[in-house]
Amino acid sequence: MTATLIDGKAFAAALRARLAEEVAGLAGRGLVPGLSVVLVGEDPASQVYVRSKERMAAEAGMVSIAHRLPAETAQDDLLALIRTLNAEPTVHGILVQLPLPAGLDAQAVVLAIDPAKDVDGLHPINAGNLASGVPALVPCTPSGCMMMLRDRLGDLSGANAVVVGRSNLMGKPMAQLLLAANCTVTVAHSRTRDLPAVCRSADILVAAVGRPRMIGADWIKPGATVIDVGINRLPPEPGADKGKLVGDVDFEAAKEVAGAITPVPGGVGPMTIACLLDNTVEAACRANGISRG
Ligand code: NDP
Repeated sequence: MTATLIDGKAFAAALRARLAEEVAGLAGRGLVPGLSVVLVGEDPASQVYVRSKERMAAEAGMVSIAHRLPAETAQDDLLALIRTLNAEPTVHGILVQLPLPAGLDAQAVVLAIDPAKDVDGLHPINAGNLASGVPALVPCTPSGCMMMLRDRLGDLSGANAVVVGRSNLMGKPMAQLLLAANCTVTVAHSRTRDLPAVCRSADILVAAVGRPRMIGADWIKPGATVIDVGINRLPPEPGADKGKLVGDVDFEAAKEVAGAITPVPGGVGPMTIACLLDNTVEAACRANGISRG
């Protein structure tokens, strides 16, 4: 069997197009959603992400402002910028690009963000609301995974879902979202015993580990839906300056067993920025008492 490819790139483009329409409608009512992205230091991958976020926010008709600060920025100065953005009514979403340079306390920075503007969904208030079933700003990557799963499978009730990885950014919120969708959820991690057997029990398998091609075909239940969150760069081939990007799943082998699978690149990745824009629109609407259709 060859799995259906879940095309995150196309899915994300469609979501961004819907958001652009919604933003145009809001702008007609005098509300232009505003996103502020804070980038500290010169990390090349972060610079690429931040440029993509700015470009896609602008394409969707939002106001996007990047605050680029030097790597030696003091914690107090960073916190002062966040307080300014918290108080600015035209800024509806604040995102501090992680990781921060050494010497800066990411947890303190996340705590300083107004939870109503925390479009990364990392503030404990948002994490707690998500776990309690209260409306929350949900981390973008798991949100994007859920959209693709619902699109592919419809009702997820009763499905056995296994999430490999338990980070605050990905694994934990993913598990909460699957639980809220009535899945029976197992969260696996580096101490899990017999991980291949745990994975083989999954109707829905979400891999968020950060280990290239760790999950082989024999870890996958035939027909399962596989969402590969991992983004891993392999060492460059001789003569190439950059290595290939691969996921946590051995895609070529897994696609012969799975029912549906996301590729890397072009699967989960593009959904993350689209969901960031969606969270910004959500935050802008909530701040102005507007309910979304
Ligand atoms: P973290 O490093 O924070 O978490 C990795 C998790 O994987 C941990 O819970 C860890 O377990 C678990 N793990 C590590 N090794 C093993 C192993 N051998 N067996 C089982 N579990 C293991 O990573 P993130 O959650 O931030 O990201 C995971 C991956 O997803 C990365 O490749 C990252 O680049 C990618 N990513 C992609 C995004 C996108 O937009 N597509 C967005 C965010 C992340 P333990 O807790 O026990 O240490």
